[in-house]
Amino acid sequence: MRKDIITVTSPLLPNLESFKDLLEEIWESKWITNNGSFHKQLELALSKYLKVPYVSLFTNGTLPLITALQALRITGEVITTPFSFVATTHSLWWNGIKPVFVDIDPHNGCIDPNKIEAAITPRTTAIMPVHVYGTPCDTKAIQNIADKYGLKVIYDAAHAFGVEFNGESILNAGDLSTLSFHATKVFNTIEGGAMIMHDEKTKQRIDYLKNFGFANEIEVVAPGINSKMDEVRSAFGLLNLKEVDDSINKRQIVATKYREALRNTKGITYWNDIQGVRHNYSYFPIFVDTEEYGMSRDDLYTKMKRNNIYGRRYFYPLISTFSTYRGLPSATKENLPIATKLANEVICLPIHHLLGQEDINRVIDCIVNK
Ligand SMILES: *Cc1c(COP(=O)(O)O)cnc(C)c1O
Repeated sequence: MRKDIITVTSPLLPNLESFKDLLEEIWESKWITNNGSFHKQLELALSKYLKVPYVSLFTNGTLPLITALQALRITGEVITTPFSFVATTHSLWWNGIKPVFVDIDPHNGCIDPNKIEAAITPRTTAIMPVHVYGTPCDTKAIQNIADKYGLKVIYDAAHAFGVEFNGESILNAGDLSTLSFHATKVFNTIEGGAMIMHDEKTKQRIDYLKNFGFANEIEVVAPGINSKMDEVRSAFGLLNLKEVDDSINKRQIVATKYREALRNTKGITYWNDIQGVRHNYSYFPIFVDTEEYGMSRDDLYTKMKRNNIYGRRYFYPLISTFSTYRGLPSATKENLPIATKLANEVICLPIHHLLGQEDINRVIDCIVNK
């Protein structure tokens, strides 16, 4: 019997008939991009759902990072984490900024606030942390450091859609936060993203910046870029937003089952939910201790693949090891021992809204029964 492929994720898709209805509206209005009705509706709906004051939609999750650095006129050096998707550091590079890597906290994979101060120099202007896997960073400690040294904080919150701490959105932390709505994320608009800001003036400025800097028909107030979301994907997003809670609930069930089944497997560790946090279960990372488990991470990864189970080694290799960045003084293994260790141990297990009990059993069986 052929064993079906189990992928690490599966994109949330809106009901096709409902999408066709919205497409008909778009065809009728012939307004297909440039702040149309669905774009406006999705920004409003997202600000309500995410419990944030302002949302500006983008065409992907990388451009809001690049634009946020522009908007805050960040230069010089920015302190960031190597344990993320490359876009985090690339956004600095695209702005001519030098990334300074700081090691991560072994308990949540996020930048370790205790190690930030030692990395600050007179050229440091900002901190760019990542709520990796959707787990909140220690936003309080990070803000204290930022305030002490007069630094801006831009959160790459690409994984943190809908994540709350004590009832408040973690997207309200820092000066700006950015989201990705890529197909692989918990909430998607096929490709897409957003920036979260605290005040109307910043929202206006960002809206200009993502549309070439146009303030009106004849005035360009800044050297902006084009990173607008179109009407078709905005409509797609409006429909997916209705499904996302159900999808997160289904992911939570998968995570609970993994935790129960793997609790007593020697050499396999995972993180538990944090009290007070509304998690989005976007990823389920496990960490493989070669000696204790009796098999290396890569051997388990390959074994899973042979069984048609496609986990992903997020985030391996570390960003700091890629050719663009490995020459940086902060990119050494000695500076990043925890990030290096987790990158060498991690496998993100399949987790999504369509994963059934049989699939879950197959994944667990592959890990537990060596
Ligand atoms: C997905 C992702 C991005 C980039 O988002 P795109 O929408 O693919 O451009 C940035 N940062 C992190 C941490 C991501 O996971």
